[in-house]
Amino acid sequence: MTAVQAKQDTFDSLNPATDEVVGTYPVNSDEDVASAVSRAREAALWWAGLGFAGRAERLQRWKGVITRRAAQLAEVVHAETGKPHADAMLEIVLAIDHTAWAAKNAAKVLGRKRRPAGMLMANQAASVEFQPLGVVGVIGPWNYPVFTPMGSIAYALAAGNAVVFKPSEYTPGVGRWLVDSFAEAVPEHPVFQLVTGYGQTGAALCRSGVDKLAFTGSPATGKKIMAACAETLTPVLIEAGGKDALLVDVDADLDEAADAAVWGGMSNAGQTCVGVERVYVHERVYDDFVAKVVKIAGDVRAGGDAEAQIGPITMPGQLAVIRRHIKDALARGGRALVGGEDAVGDRFVQPTVLVDVPEDSAAVREETFGPTLTIAKVADMDEAVEKANDSKYGLASTVFSKRRGMELARRLRSGMTSVNGVISFAGIPSLPFGGIGESGFGRIHGQEGLKEFARTKAIARQRFRAPLVLTTFNRSAKTDATVAKLITLLHGKRR
Ligand code: NAD
Repeated sequence: MTAVQAKQDTFDSLNPATDEVVGTYPVNSDEDVASAVSRAREAALWWAGLGFAGRAERLQRWKGVITRRAAQLAEVVHAETGKPHADAMLEIVLAIDHTAWAAKNAAKVLGRKRRPAGMLMANQAASVEFQPLGVVGVIGPWNYPVFTPMGSIAYALAAGNAVVFKPSEYTPGVGRWLVDSFAEAVPEHPVFQLVTGYGQTGAALCRSGVDKLAFTGSPATGKKIMAACAETLTPVLIEAGGKDALLVDVDADLDEAADAAVWGGMSNAGQTCVGVERVYVHERVYDDFVAKVVKIAGDVRAGGDAEAQIGPITMPGQLAVIRRHIKDALARGGRALVGGEDAVGDRFVQPTVLVDVPEDSAAVREETFGPTLTIAKVADMDEAVEKANDSKYGLASTVFSKRRGMELARRLRSGMTSVNGVISFAGIPSLPFGGIGESGFGRIHGQEGLKEFARTKAIARQRFRAPLVLTTFNRSAKTDATVAKLITLLHGKRR
């Protein structure tokens, strides 16, 4: 079984629950990618020329098209990833909200700002502008084929760039739908284009001379992207995987924490970059918490029918990774309280809850990307923070604590943290999204996300000729002496 079937110049995307062909798409060559980028260059000039208001109006129009036809898009997402319709709708709703926010706020965030000119250049009017970069390449994953790339696409467009998008080879139909719906709302120029294919098509986009490459995917591919972009010094943004931890303090609401751990770890069959994979629980509430998790997880079922809460594993190769992690954990003293090795089928993985798993095992250290959780007991929250932070990744984290939530959140080494909720940051458009370490760098969403796709431009405009002109060979010794005196007066005081 493969979810992508190769032919010569085209490939099929398949429904991972049934192997039915969902659509056939071209494997775009280096030349195809170069042509798309060249068309995008022209479109970018027109798009930038519309200004914030013109772009905002068109992006709001696009948002309307997506909203009115969301059920149709959800059907494509469901067919290509296997995820339940309701989950497909959820990621579309979030993407719509982000698009609306980016369109509405771009002018405020990226518009011209005055800056104080300082003492030595008091005759200047200082300002900063955030100009479009030009053409942005976006390479996306399959797990949230709408929400994830839209975090780059909507923000790059709102900042005034044209976009060339290479969706995952598992979800080309979702990419096609997004690009076609944009063309419906903005028919004038190809401001948002699609290229399809495998890694090679993505690599061609990296080398195509785009002004920035926004990548979301695995850390291993992220490294290849950086290497390819290095050839042309193309700046990159990397949104990669994680091994996110959830901490449960002694005073946490255990019902809510258990519910969050199971949903955070198992929704989308665990194929969530910011999904919960590890849980650290204060020893005084460990038994109660584990009992609640076991009960909730025991009621979750993976399947292809409408009643199943989670769908198939989209990428067949991932089944072996999940099986290896569970097997290794069990071989090294871990116990499966729900699921286990038998939970891994040839399409679906049933929820699996593991305890007593050594901290140095693959199930704790590597991204599993399946509906599994490891739960470990800790003596106190210092130990919980230490263990959570002992990871090469640093994408997101979660804390359940009544009194110490904010303190613990600050101490967690991750780009984002939810306190007494799970993955909440992703649904707040004003909050930046991104990781540290092998989870990547750069930020999408929020004002930081808009600025990722803009070139910071500083302008100093002389308002009047200053009595002391510093930037001339005609500067007198008297001017230098006066400046020296002035600087001593301003900064030379002993404290
Ligand atoms: P992947 O790295 O296999 O593929 C991502 C994209 O890169 C695909 O479009 C693929 O065709 C392309 N690609 C592959 N090789 C390439 C190359 N050499 N040059 C250029 N492009 C290339 O990842 P995936 O399996 O699609 O997605 C799952 C991974 O994505 C997980 O690790 C997950 O945690 C991560 N992810 C991260 C975020 C985030 O925002 N941080 C969001 C979603 C998914």
